[in-house]
Amino acid sequence: QNVLTGPLPRLTVIGTGYLGATHAICMAVLGYEVLGVDVDPDKIARLAAGDVPFFEPGLPEKLREALDYGRLRFTTDFDEAAAFGDVHFICVGTPQLAGSHAADLRYVESAFTELAKRIDRRALLVGKSTVPIGTAARLTTIVQEVSPAGTDLELAWNPEFLREGFAVEDTLRPDRLVFGVASDYAERALRDAFAPIIAEGTPVVVADTATAELVKVAANSFLATKISYINAMAEVCEATGADVNLLAKALSFDDRIGARFLKPGLGFGGGCLPKDIRAFRHRAEELGVGAAVRFLDEVDQINLRRRARTVDLVRELAGGSLLGVRVAALGAAFKPNSDDVRDAPALDVARMLYLEGALVSVYDPEANDNAHRLYPDLEYADTLGKCVRGAEVTVLLTEWEQFRRADPTLLGEIVAEKKIVDGRHALDATAYRRAGWEYRALGRPVVA
Ligand code: NAD
Repeated sequence: QNVLTGPLPRLTVIGTGYLGATHAICMAVLGYEVLGVDVDPDKIARLAAGDVPFFEPGLPEKLREALDYGRLRFTTDFDEAAAFGDVHFICVGTPQLAGSHAADLRYVESAFTELAKRIDRRALLVGKSTVPIGTAARLTTIVQEVSPAGTDLELAWNPEFLREGFAVEDTLRPDRLVFGVASDYAERALRDAFAPIIAEGTPVVVADTATAELVKVAANSFLATKISYINAMAEVCEATGADVNLLAKALSFDDRIGARFLKPGLGFGGGCLPKDIRAFRHRAEELGVGAAVRFLDEVDQINLRRRARTVDLVRELAGGSLLGVRVAALGAAFKPNSDDVRDAPALDVARMLYLEGALVSVYDPEANDNAHRLYPDLEYADTLGKCVRGAEVTVLLTEWEQFRRADPTLLGEIVAEKKIVDGRHALDATAYRRAGWEYRALGRPVVA
């Protein structure tokens, strides 16, 4: 697989969460010697033992493959990482700061400084985490301050676009690579670090670090806006009796608009989109260009209103009050094929139903454990059947294939009342109605 003439650079990956573990594993599969580093010893022990600590289709197989090749190791030791790597990828979390819309950069700063102060040879530090514009420039100064005198350290930014649920495919065959660099050396080192992927014809955009940082938040802002756009249309549909599903279908035949991300429903969530648009908005304000992205406040508000409106629909089906009503909540993850419950619309709706007095039973094929850790007060069922047994209202919150395929007639025999809110426009409304269900979905007219 080595398409280079010289030796392959040795890679470290700092932070082995969803992004870092995937990156480390895939790079080792592609032929690189990789060292994964995390401050969480349990995570490192599990990965070293061949166990992916989160749900991601195809990743466990790739981890075993990489370990079998003997090219992938894991450690908590920064000295080892500093001595090992030619190119260091920093993949630590950048969550929303408590009580603010800004990004919490303490993990990124710590990873860069802990590494930089230990490196005493030429190396490239590459940020992959999503950060506010200007972070790379600020970190460059910090790195220069802490690195041993005479060390030839440089910094670059390589934003990541992988989607959970498709992480392996997106890492091995990305739509594009973006390199934010300040020198030819940095560009060459990054080209070497991605040589097999570039050899497949993947487009590479070489830019300054500010542009590279901006590409990521601009892309996420665009996607969030597209989702909130169709959900705003759903609100208009609800006020007029129009059907947002038919509207989206008709719009999507226009090539300039397209069908992707034009899916009405409960809206976006997860560990990226919500916090990224808020941090972008915050950063733009700091930069004196707040007005340019003020629309992202609306995008956020439209998105959050979908959650409240889903609760309204469940309450309406329950007859006006949720007090003591048994509700089956299908899904907890922020999207199917993931066990990630960070800012998950599904769990948020389940929590709001619970706070209004509903007796909520949650079932997610993969995310029950993570959801339970976050909201231990909710009840969790370990099968779909147990979740819906005796339910007076059922609400679909994450569009797992298992829920899409469920037979409305069989489900109807288990629930107490055949009333369903399809929060994701994922079910066959006609089939449900034919099986005797009262079916409701956001932005679609009520059919008697
Ligand atoms: P995560 O929380 O799953 O993983 C972060 C990891 O970093 C954790 O394992 C944590 O223990 C570790 N860590 C924290 N501080 C550390 C330190 N100082 N040294 C070493 N390890 C440290 O987060 P994630 O979802 O993988 O996201 C990481 C970054 O990638 C974020 O900036 C995110 O916005 C971005 N991103 C994520 C995705 C995604 O789909 N998850 C996609 C693109 C970009």
